[in-house]
Amino acid sequence: MSANVRKEIPLSMPVIGEREVQYVMDCLRSTWISSAGEYIERFESAFAAVAGTKHAVSCSNGTAALHLALLGLGVKPDDEVLVPALSFVATANAVVYCGGKPVFVDVDRDIWCMDPSLIEARITPKTRAIITVHLRGHPSDMEAILSIARRHNLFVIEDAAQAHGAQAWGRPVGSIGDIGTFSFFGNKMLTTGEGGMVTTNDDQVAHKIRLLKNQGMTRERRYWHPVVGYNYRLTNIQAAIGVAQVERLPVQLSRHREVARQYQEYLADVPGLSFQKERDWAKHAWWQFVAVVNDEFGANRDTVISALQESGIDARRLYFPMHQLPPYEGQTRDQRFPVAEYLSDRGVCLPTWSGLEPEDIQYICRKFETCRSAH
Ligand SMILES: *Cc1c(COP(=O)(O)O)cnc(C)c1O
Repeated sequence: MSANVRKEIPLSMPVIGEREVQYVMDCLRSTWISSAGEYIERFESAFAAVAGTKHAVSCSNGTAALHLALLGLGVKPDDEVLVPALSFVATANAVVYCGGKPVFVDVDRDIWCMDPSLIEARITPKTRAIITVHLRGHPSDMEAILSIARRHNLFVIEDAAQAHGAQAWGRPVGSIGDIGTFSFFGNKMLTTGEGGMVTTNDDQVAHKIRLLKNQGMTRERRYWHPVVGYNYRLTNIQAAIGVAQVERLPVQLSRHREVARQYQEYLADVPGLSFQKERDWAKHAWWQFVAVVNDEFGANRDTVISALQESGIDARRLYFPMHQLPPYEGQTRDQRFPVAEYLSDRGVCLPTWSGLEPEDIQYICRKFETCRSAH
């Protein structure tokens, strides 16, 4: 193929196969299309097995999962919750839904997750929990975070929305802290269109979350609502897709790992680029690959992104660090988050999905490299 042929390469692509279609059709034919039905339980138990937890509670999305996790642990108005400065905004917003205050902690420059060495300086008498995000699929340093949390009597929530199947010291994410949350949005490693899951080994917390996600109604007594709850239920149709998706996890993980390996191989000799590292205790899920465009590269992030976009490659910037967003900037004026800012200013998210061919990755890497000489 000529080098001038333009390809259209999306950032991500869900994998939907015959099994998803078959299970959804089964739902439709059975008329069990709402939030009761056998696929809900099948999805929850299959996911609990993958996450290595006693309980997995399905819910409507990953943001609802975070909200339920915080409520399940008893986070209440005026509580402070530590969150990494670099994440998708839902991580901080869920704290605000509880009337709490997110307190930002900068991230580690190698693995891009919350930097444990900066946690203690942010703890106050009001701190109640830590939400750590396994960013891009790399697990957080759970040993360090848990030991700090134990010392200060804090709960630990793992936001594993980007990290299905990742492991730290051989343990699946979502099973290491007090509670784990997952998203099944369309661009995540596993998807149900929209969807979420909360994982925990704690019977009482799981029970409370089940109550809260279903309008606060007890299972024992219909229309008896001891607490104010929410409608955060997943549908049987979504769960049917989820049952088929969970079966794909091992293949998804090995494909994403292979895509990330090829990016690193083809971009290895390009000066000025760096990548997220994988610690020896970690099994990275490689949800979505990011190249960091350092100053030595010779072109900045925006130049690279527009050049890639012009070549039909859907490359994107990383998130803004949350302390720069209007709802949160006021409270953090005197604080610095240099690593989150550095990564946010220079990170380019590259297409990562299981059907990506080596030729596509070579094409993307060639276009990436030519940005240097063009400027
Ligand atoms: C996707 C994501 C969420 C939110 O999940 P939704 O299902 O979109 O609500 C939360 N946290 C992180 C880190 C995410 O990537």
